[in-house]
Amino acid sequence: MINTYNVNEKGYYGDFGGAYIPEMMYANIEELRTKYLKICSEEKFLKEFNDLLKQYVGRPTPLYYAERLSLNYNTKIYLKREDLCHTGAHKINNTIGQILLAKRLGKTRIIAETGAGQHGVATATVCALMGIKCIIYMGEVDISRQAPNVARMKMLGAEVKPAISGSKTLKDATNEAIRDWINNPIDTHYIIGSVVGPHPYPDMVARFQSVIGDEVMDQLKKMEGSENPNYVIACVGGGSNAAGLFYPYLDNENVKIICVEAAGKGIDTGKSAATSILGKEGIIHGSKTLLMQSFDGQITEPYSISAGLDYPGVGPMHANLYKTKRGEFISITDKEAMQWGLNLSRLEGIIPAIETSHAFAVLDKKKFKKDDILVFNCSGRGDKDLDTYIDYFKL
Ligand SMILES: *Cc1c(COP(=O)(O)O)cnc(C)c1O
Repeated sequence: MINTYNVNEKGYYGDFGGAYIPEMMYANIEELRTKYLKICSEEKFLKEFNDLLKQYVGRPTPLYYAERLSLNYNTKIYLKREDLCHTGAHKINNTIGQILLAKRLGKTRIIAETGAGQHGVATATVCALMGIKCIIYMGEVDISRQAPNVARMKMLGAEVKPAISGSKTLKDATNEAIRDWINNPIDTHYIIGSVVGPHPYPDMVARFQSVIGDEVMDQLKKMEGSENPNYVIACVGGGSNAAGLFYPYLDNENVKIICVEAAGKGIDTGKSAATSILGKEGIIHGSKTLLMQSFDGQITEPYSISAGLDYPGVGPMHANLYKTKRGEFISITDKEAMQWGLNLSRLEGIIPAIETSHAFAVLDKKKFKKDDILVFNCSGRGDKDLDTYIDYFKL
């Protein structure tokens, strides 16, 4: 019998999670683990967090009934508009929480990893807001394909350091950030950008992002008379926007969960990031989870057209949702996702991030009933991806 799909006191979601870390990192993680719940439940902390979410991020974000989309697919579709958050995606909910935590831990220097640059921008933003030194690690390949976000980080006063090992993408940037933290354990806090990494990160980030699901409950109650939709649907890279939306529904099995992963060029092509479907149990960046690996345990390089989804692992919460079948996992190719970027733009006047576009492609994969209520997490806006869309469609 499964009592909860949420984390247990040891930092596990079923078989997944934990903290598999080198001894050199132990002091940092232990400091966080023993203090995060206490700090994050203090009244003063919560007030400061909620005030910033409201005044600075622009929360609550709307829950928008997408009428034309609903008509086209003969079902009821709501969009949780995280694309309207300051800096253009859900990532800032987490960075606000972690910067407030870092301040209370007495930290004076922030490091972070970034793939598409959205988490780097969200981190550089809160560091500027608080006047704290900020160093962002980013793969050299990502630096060249996400130039507008690199410019934004620099404008905000962050130092962007290239990761030049491996595939020179997100996983390599994460390795560099971990190395930095081991060398600077006292004054530095590492702001991880998704529900990945050693415990307590997945739980901490899920809690900060759970404002998304909590707002949906309130909003849906007012709009539909019930706080429970039939489906909650989100794209999954590391899994933080999905975790935020799913959080209050995890143990309510009347609400079905759909996780959408990036199939890249197709799950059988070797150019994919469909981590759950292709992954095997293993350890990456301090967490036991599902990850793409060769038969002898070497991590396989992931691929997706969207820089925010090409991570070879997935958060332990999602690995457990997959294994227990609490969540349905659907993978979407580059081609299908790109088409949905255009569809949502033309049907609703909303240009989504390519990551987000993956989620909507579920509408072509699965049949929903006329009075089903679907809530999609519209995780981010497409400004950062305009060049990719324009090249792709030759607009
Ligand atoms: C980073 C990002 C994602 C993927 O990260 P998760 O942690 O899985 O949410 C999805 N959408 C957008 C817009 C992003 O910036």
